[in-house]
Amino acid sequence: MAARMTEILRADLAGVMQAAAQLRAGALVAFGTETVYGLGGDATNAKAVAAIFDAKGRPRFNPLICHYPSAERAFQHVVADPRALRVAAAFWPGPLTLVLQRRPNCPVALLTGAGLDTLAVRVPRHAVATALLQAADRPIAAPSANRSGQVSPTSAQHVMDGLAGRIAAVLDSGSCEVGVESSVLDLSGTMPVLLRPGGVAAEALEACLGPIERGTPHATGQPAFRSPGLMVSHYAPNLPVRLNAESIADNEALLAFGPPLPGGRCVFQLSGSGDTVEAAVRLFEGLRWLDAEGKRVGAAGIAVMPVPLSGLGLAINDRLGRAAAPRGG
Ligand code: AMP
Ligand code: MG
Repeated sequence: MAARMTEILRADLAGVMQAAAQLRAGALVAFGTETVYGLGGDATNAKAVAAIFDAKGRPRFNPLICHYPSAERAFQHVVADPRALRVAAAFWPGPLTLVLQRRPNCPVALLTGAGLDTLAVRVPRHAVATALLQAADRPIAAPSANRSGQVSPTSAQHVMDGLAGRIAAVLDSGSCEVGVESSVLDLSGTMPVLLRPGGVAAEALEACLGPIERGTPHATGQPAFRSPGLMVSHYAPNLPVRLNAESIADNEALLAFGPPLPGGRCVFQLSGSGDTVEAAVRLFEGLRWLDAEGKRVGAAGIAVMPVPLSGLGLAINDRLGRAAAPRGG
């Protein structure tokens, strides 16, 4: 990635407006919330979201949390049942993330939610973050603003230590009040599941909702939370997926990277020029399209051309590997 200056913006009206304009233009801006600093990008712009993964150096596409200025805005994009309305009334704005079904017309890019039908949404409790989200006027995807594998940042300086030169700006709103990530509560199924413990205590959630599942005990007998990123279900097409194809059968659909192999029932091109960022932008769209179109034209499976491990190729291969893994495990 080309080195460029990362601007530190003051959290006054001018700084917030400038940060919002950069987000709207597709640039990455880190901003403080009550939990930790988030690395923000326009959640409706798959290129901005791919740039988030690139800047963090994440080896896989974890689904990202979308941030909104109000519950009303959040619930325009996901389906809120009475449980969601109850916890939102009790804990929003605040350090609680809810995983809910996407609405059919949800404009959030598939890459933001790693291709899933669910979306994680949160309304932060921080005046500057709220002002930014309002001014940006679109959902902002924001994982913690650190390089992959490093600790979450709680000050603008921490963000600069890890990401200077990799993002457009940091909106400096001082240090974070809570300092741990949001609790992630999955309300997309019948039983509420706490996917990640965080700023709202599990007991407080149970007092509001009744029993919630808190992860499964390990063989050690130690209660353990399901490990985020590892346990999260991932999108897989219905058609079987065959990786690193060097040729294709004529009853296969093709996910191409670079000059496409000849033949096949239908083709989706990830990136004709072999660009891994462009391929990331198109990955989940491509798998979904091939699944539907492949079925329509009678394809028996999806053949995938090799994608190199450089840049976002590592994360792309991780997802393709999961899509190709045997089902039911
Ligand atoms: P971070 O990006 O570090 O703030 O972490 C976001 C957390 O939310 C991770 O633990 C993700 O696995 C979890 N998450 C986000 N979206 C979803 C989703 N649709 N389903 C389940 N977990 C999610
Ligand atoms: Mg993190």
